[in-house]
This record gives sequence, structure tokens and C-alpha cells, in this order.
Amino acid sequence: MAEFTNHQWLLAARPEGALNEGNFKRAESPIPEPGEGEFLAKTIYVSVEPAMRGHMLETSAYAQTMNIGDVINATGVAQVIKSNNPKYAAGDLVQCPTGFQEYVVSNGQMVTKVPDGLNAEAVLSIFGGTGFTAYYGMVETGEVKEGDAVLISGAAGAVGNIAGQIAKIKGASKVIGLAGSDEKCKWLVDEIGFNGAINYKDEDLKKQVREAFPDGMNVFFDNVGGNILDIALNNLALNARVVICGGISRYNQDGKIPGPENYFNLVYKRARMEGFIIVDNLHRAQEFSDAMTPWLEDGSLKYQVDVIEGYENLPAGLLRLFTGANKGKQLIKLADPE
Ligand code: NDP
Repeated sequence: MAEFTNHQWLLAARPEGALNEGNFKRAESPIPEPGEGEFLAKTIYVSVEPAMRGHMLETSAYAQTMNIGDVINATGVAQVIKSNNPKYAAGDLVQCPTGFQEYVVSNGQMVTKVPDGLNAEAVLSIFGGTGFTAYYGMVETGEVKEGDAVLISGAAGAVGNIAGQIAKIKGASKVIGLAGSDEKCKWLVDEIGFNGAINYKDEDLKKQVREAFPDGMNVFFDNVGGNILDIALNNLALNARVVICGGISRYNQDGKIPGPENYFNLVYKRARMEGFIIVDNLHRAQEFSDAMTPWLEDGSLKYQVDVIEGYENLPAGLLRLFTGANKGKQLIKLADPE
């Protein structure tokens, strides 16, 4: 019977406070048939990212609203197994909205083929939303340039570690990461090439950041918000750029969120703080890929994936982001490609 069943996870309840297992409900349905112009694909990997909690709310800030009972939205890599769409053939590997499920029918919207010679893990780490976010945030919003001193929060996560590598490639003189464990800090320095890393759970975080940036930082790439953003704002160099990529420290909080206390330092330092949403720039995907491909080929850009297995672990994979269990890009593997 198993091969006729599509195992899925549905939105059971909208998040209130911390996202938890109770927000998800298991379901089974028959494997769907593709209609005209559609294809059926088997999910290989599902990619998770912290903003998915926000997309489960009644009004998501920028994603399509999910209704209670809908399959949880997510992107991944899938393998086409039956196609009525001339652009896709059985066997093709595609990056597409898979959702939290084993099989998906697609009409080709938001679908890109996995290029020959690249594996699914590289695609989901670098040549998709994650890598493009790191690139756009660091290069365009952060305007990183040679000699810059750069601080990155959430540095051992999917976006953060790539943003740090891009800053180094672009000639930053110092790239320091903030991460939630000594082991992650060591990994950032020893394997990813950061100049230094600070465990943000240390009591003397303020002091350590001040000592790491005696002349202030030129770029702060923020994935976390809250207290960490405030500490960074107090240590800006003249004309600094503060890139607001994410704010995971606040995602599990409902209600009013306090603003940064030290925002006025933007005035004293003639600095700029700017947010962005990568989906506004996905029409530039080819340009981002072209910029990053040579770095992957010459080894100056590495990717790190953190893979757990099994459709039954899809919610657990998402929850890992909020406990800091992941290092690099969190993926959930559902099947091997054929
Ligand atoms: P990550 O791989 O970075 O996973 C989340 C990490 O955040 C965890 O591993 C954990 O690392 C850290 N974290 C969790 N809770 C807290 C907390 N309370 N305080 C500080 N750190 C915490 O996720 P992504 O790389 O996919 O995403 C990074 C950020 O970028 C997110 O905020 C995401 O929403 C945002 N984003 C923004 C996009 C845009 O278009 N603007 C697009 C994609 C992502 P640790 O062990 O170090 O605590």
C-alpha cells in the first residue's frame, strides 16, 4: 500500500508563542495524478527556514496565506516521475515548492531544474533562497567592500555562514560571527574561514564585541534582532551599513516587539539600516548564480548542510532552527533520487 500513499503534514493550529509539534498534523492521501501541463514529482529534500513560522499565521507579511488543514508550505528538491509538461521529463531533478509531503503535483510555477553537475544539497544551500539571501544582503544591501570590518549574527546558520564567506571573498579585512555554542564558533573559524567568532550566550558579550571592533564595524548582517542588534548598533563605524535580514530572537513572540534602544547611533555614525526580502529579487536568480558559481568551483565558497531523514521528522526539522540544533543549512531528506 505504501507506494500509493502520499504522507503529508498539515497546518493543525496557527502558532501562538513558541512553534511546537501541536501546530502540525499528519495526514495521508492518495498520490495525485498530474493534469494537463502538470507533472508529478517525488520529494527528495525539504528545506526549512525560520520565517516559516510567520507564514503559518493568519496574515503572513509577504508569503501566501496557509489555511488550517493546508499542507505546510516549503521549498525543496524533487524528482519528476510523471510529466504532462513538455518542459519536464521523468527523472529530472527540480527545485520547487514541495511542501511538507512526499509527492507534489506542479504546473511548473516557481520551478527551476537542478543544473547538471550540481547536487541538490548545493542547490538548496547556495543556488536558492538561502545563498541568494546571503549574497544580496551582503553585496547589495550591505555594500561590503575591501577592508571592511563585518559582524554577522546567526553566523553558523544557513544564511549566516555563506554571508560571512562572501564578505571574505569581497575583501573584508575582518569577519566575526556570533553563534550559540563554542563548538559552532570553533567551526566558523577553523572550517569556514571567519577571523573570529563569539558565543553570544557569554555574559560579557558586549565587552567581547567592543574588543573585536575597536574602530567599529562597517557592516552588521543581522539574522537575530533583539539585544544582539542593540549591541551592534552601539559599535558602528562611520557610514556603517546595518543589514536586517532576519530577527529569529523575536519570531516566537506574539504582540508588541520593542524597538532597538540604540537606534540613534545611526545618526551619530551617519549609518544606514535596511531590510530586504529575497523573493523581491528572485528574477535576478541567474545573475546571483553567475556571481557565485566561480567561487564554488574554485573552492572559496563552501556549503554545509545538516540533514535529518524521514517525512515523519519534517516538523522536527523546522523546530531545530529555534533551538539552535542545526549547523549550516537544515534539510530533511525524504528519499534518494533514482
Ligand atoms: P538558520 O540556519 O540560521 O537557523 C536559525 C539559527 O538561529 C539557529 O541555528 C540558531 O543558531 C539561531 N537562533 C535561534 N533562536 C535564536 C535566538 N533566540 N537568539 C539568537 N539566535 C537564535 O536559519 P536561516 O539561515 O535559514 O535564516 C537566518 C535568518 O535569515 C532568519 O531570521 C530568516 O528568517 C532570515 N531570512 C531572511 C530572508 C530574507 O529575504 N530577508 C530569506 C531567508 C532567511 P545559534 O545556535 O547560533 O543560536
